[in-house]
Amino acid sequence: MVTAHPAPVVCPVCALGVADVGGLAVHLVDAAERSEVAHVMWLNRHVTKRRMPPSELEKLLDERTAHGSSASDRVAR
Ligand SMILES: [Zn+2]
Repeated sequence: MVTAHPAPVVCPVCALGVADVGGLAVHLVDAAERSEVAHVMWLNRHVTKRRMPPSELEKLLDERTAHGSSASDRVAR
């Protein structure tokens, strides 16, 4: 087992590993465009209900992760 995680950013919905927050934004927007329900729900609940391009979403995700990643592990009911 390798302890160091190969992907610094992991999708909170499907655990897909991506290179950075920009990659996560692209992945989330892509999933939302395919109306992938779990990802759409996560975006609506945690980031925004607005549709936006990955470059915009990346900024919001950046702000969110900057406020401490451990707190984001709390899943709302
Ligand atoms: Zn995902």
